Amino acid sequence: MPANAPAPLPGPNDLGAWWMPFTANRAFRRKPRLVSGAEGMHYRTPDGRSVLDGISGLWCCNAGHGREPIVRAIRAQAGELDYAPPFQFGHPAAFALAGRLAALAPGDLDRVFLCNSGSEAVDTALKIALAYWQARGEGRRTRLIGRERGYHGVGFGGIAVGGIGANRRAFGPGLPGIDHLPHTYDRAQQAFTVGEPDWGGHLADALERIVELHDASTIAAVIVEPMAGSTGVLPPPKGYLERLRALCDRHGLLLIFDEVITGFGRLGHAFAAERYGVVPDMITFAKAVNSGTVPMGGVIVREPVHAALMQGPEHAVELFHGYTYSGHPLACAAALATLDLYRDEDLFARARALEPAFGQAVMSLRGLPGILDIRTVGLAAAIDLAPRPDAPGLRAFTIMDRAFEAGLVVRAAGDTLALTPPLIVREDQIGEIVDRLEPVIRATS
Ligand code: PLP
Repeated sequence: MPANAPAPLPGPNDLGAWWMPFTANRAFRRKPRLVSGAEGMHYRTPDGRSVLDGISGLWCCNAGHGREPIVRAIRAQAGELDYAPPFQFGHPAAFALAGRLAALAPGDLDRVFLCNSGSEAVDTALKIALAYWQARGEGRRTRLIGRERGYHGVGFGGIAVGGIGANRRAFGPGLPGIDHLPHTYDRAQQAFTVGEPDWGGHLADALERIVELHDASTIAAVIVEPMAGSTGVLPPPKGYLERLRALCDRHGLLLIFDEVITGFGRLGHAFAAERYGVVPDMITFAKAVNSGTVPMGGVIVREPVHAALMQGPEHAVELFHGYTYSGHPLACAAALATLDLYRDEDLFARARALEPAFGQAVMSLRGLPGILDIRTVGLAAAIDLAPRPDAPGLRAFTIMDRAFEAGLVVRAAGDTLALTPPLIVREDQIGEIVDRLEPVIRATS
């Protein structure tokens, strides 16, 4: 081939070009796990196998796969209006969706900013918090408080308030002015708990110490996942979120719930805020808003926060923030159809009704070799495995790989497995998930 010839295009089976996210790329290329179709509770592989989806894609396909009303809505929208500029122009579906989301959210969480992912939603919420204080003449409030073991996506804001060392290590000093609450997990106190642990509500009081250290007048906001999903399904200890809300109120701090995982039924309610009866100042969402079909995220904001930013001459932009694809017509149409499905099939209540059976089924794995803990809440569960001393992470990775061969998609993060099936899962399919996983765990030491 001459030196200046264009590189050949990758063939259909060439796995070399795509640098996959959060993936062991070299291992994947050697032994890929490919899916090429999906319907209901199942993926289809290119060689025609049916694989049960135990994780709703990646915590997003809560209505199941290939749902006809969603597919139809996306097709129709693409034919009607493919794209509309969201800066200074609008289209009906975005306004309709924002209204629906505001109606789903508790209290006066009535204003909705749209973006394209959970990471963007988090960065948007943090920026709104900073802009809010500046608009109120308290521009010294710039400090952001996250929590250890929190996951808030991969933007610079998200990894700063996030509490996962591996996600920060390679990327420089990060944002200044960040502090973290302690995480809420203590195996000695909480192992094998179904639902919210009794122990740990007092850990919210650590916020008091952080306030003492930095002074409330320098703190803009506290961001937590009501249930920490990515670091292994850590439900909030009883009373924890209420205490956090009370402390934020006492010191005038904004409280942000990152509901990218917990939003849209995972815990049996539209939002975890509803399950726990705690109303934050902002809710971030993404993933299941349209059952994972078209990239979309957003922030639902309390009315007074929004109102504080509606200042200046009426023709002037109030918040210098937004994305080319904010409120993309296809994502909005998909979300409207998905919210209809959630409502018409009462899927959040379905998740609530299935919670005990799901918890019991996953908990039945207790006692298998190498299982250190199991946690379940809503339709989410995590299984902690004893790491292999010579190769942390390899055990869960191997189980994930072998489970796929055995017809089940599970998620592995570190040595923790996660199970988060679509909300349409039937009880017999919950049994199937556990039955497929059990022999694989037994066989993988
Ligand atoms: N926030 C939480 C709580 C998440 O679980 C995730 C992703 O899993 C994100 C933010 C980031 O979302 P995305 O991957 O869409 O950027």
